[in-house]
Amino acid sequence: MLVLFDVDLTLIDTQGAGRGAMVAAGRAIFGDDFHSEGVPFAGRIDPLILRDLLVANGIAPTPNHAASMRSAYVERLGAMLDGRVRTLPGAVALLDALDAVEEVTVGVLTGNFEETGGMKLRAAGIDPERFAVQAWGDGSPFDPPAREHLPPVAIERYVALHGRSPRSVTIVGDTSHDVACAMANGCRSLGVTTGRTSLDELSRAGADRVVEDLSSTEEVMSWLMER
Ligand SMILES: [Mg+2]
Repeated sequence: MLVLFDVDLTLIDTQGAGRGAMVAAGRAIFGDDFHSEGVPFAGRIDPLILRDLLVANGIAPTPNHAASMRSAYVERLGAMLDGRVRTLPGAVALLDALDAVEEVTVGVLTGNFEETGGMKLRAAGIDPERFAVQAWGDGSPFDPPAREHLPPVAIERYVALHGRSPRSVTIVGDTSHDVACAMANGCRSLGVTTGRTSLDELSRAGADRVVEDLSSTEEVMSWLMER
């Protein structure tokens, strides 16, 4: 059994540090007018967010521009994260409870680049190495990339680890993108309303179950273990 967690607003809240650091990166490279207006961030993968930021600012989304944005973003994120990151209710307790169950493998499936996702988790006191399976925002083997491409990447790593396919895969996340990504791959999904998407919206998107947060460890565990 494989349980894959989204990062931002599912496990941790960085209070917008990612958006802040990306805009700061854009300003450092392209000037003070660089902005993020009209660019959605929630639940999206970083390569697409960077591309949309460049386009929104009238800059050609070339591989070179994307690469310099990415490294400038990495350089600025640490300072932005400083003192403003917290874990969301019940997140760590649930990870610990799942880790204690032998048949469960816990993974991360997130839109974050590996280096910045790791920085965010570490800033919240969560060691990224605790996730035996990791699918990061730049892990899609296709161009253009999409979040929907990431569950097969996670499952491939599970198979490499265990020598067999998982009996079930559940994706835990706070946005309709997390739910859509699960549905596109025949995975179950658990929605959490710790982000900006309501219970109704997550249900309408097709989430198999929605909870307010992850604090009811036993209840969430028993639902996760159902299959
Ligand atoms: Mg999220």
